[in-house]
Amino acid sequence: MANHFPLRLIGSRMLAPSVRHLEFARDDGLPLDFIPGQFIQVHFNYPDGSATKRSYSLATMHDHAMGPGEAVEIAVSYVAGGAATALFTALDEGQQIQASGPYGRFCLGAADANQRYLLIGTGTGVTPYRAMLPQLAQMMATRDVDVVLLFGARTPAELIYGEDFYAFARAHPRFRFVPCFSRELPADAHADVRRGYVQDALVDFAPDAAGDIAYLCGNPNMVDTAFEALKSAGLPVPHIRREKYVSSK
Ligand SMILES: Cc1cc2nc3c(=O)[nH]c(=O)nc-3n(C[C@H](O)[C@H](O)[C@H](O)COP(=O)(O)OP(=O)(O)OC[C@H]3O[C@@H](n4cnc5c(N)ncnc54)[C@H](O)[C@@H]3O)c2cc1C
Repeated sequence: MANHFPLRLIGSRMLAPSVRHLEFARDDGLPLDFIPGQFIQVHFNYPDGSATKRSYSLATMHDHAMGPGEAVEIAVSYVAGGAATALFTALDEGQQIQASGPYGRFCLGAADANQRYLLIGTGTGVTPYRAMLPQLAQMMATRDVDVVLLFGARTPAELIYGEDFYAFARAHPRFRFVPCFSRELPADAHADVRRGYVQDALVDFAPDAAGDIAYLCGNPNMVDTAFEALKSAGLPVPHIRREKYVSSK
């Protein structure tokens, strides 16, 4: 049986017009030990009293075992009529939710010997990559590996955690941050900004069967399209790691 625990909201902010960043403390006093890339499940009831749950990737920038003071961070994208959306919209500081986990294997491989990671995400699908930043810093410092993060968003206002990724790119020359906007470009676009869908920008980076490992996270259509493109480029399937954000409704 997975580990169930209460989470108390200790802080939050809007990252985009419909994305809320939430920070929780585990209310049983224990740390949440997780590997960057993993997710938790949030358990709650529909208005008719029946039980349901939703999954959320952990956003906490996390290196080793989580210390007792480290917050459990997630980014929740609101969808019209969503049950979890209603829960998270109404959640105030000090209130508690029930969670379980961590789950998932969408994590960096300790034994990976690749020359480059292609990290591809849309919307809140970049959340696991934020959690991975300390681990990526460690990898880039200790072995010969480059990292390209391709982030698909409709508009600059939806570039969640963009400041974290830009700051990380400035501090780590081997890390390249490539925001791809499908509807509206920023006024003074950084040289790496692309117009269009993230899966279409992939070709600019010439995916390489011998040296690349790719991660795909977020919108299921993007994950499927990018998966096919990477397979056509010759990447072996075990080198294309996927997390689809589907509702468990
Ligand atoms: C492994 C995993 C990790 C996930 N991590 C995150 C995360 O970090 N952040 C996050 O925001 N979500 C994440 N999700 C998705 C999340 O679990 C919920 O599906 C999402 O929050 C919607 O839940 P809801 O209860 O508000 O909407 P629901 O009650 O499930 O759905 C309401 C309506 O909206 C539609 N809908 C559901 N999702 C979307 C969508 N994305 N776009 C458009 N319409 C939609 C449904 O089809 C339905 O008609 C993850 C999913 C998985 C499987």
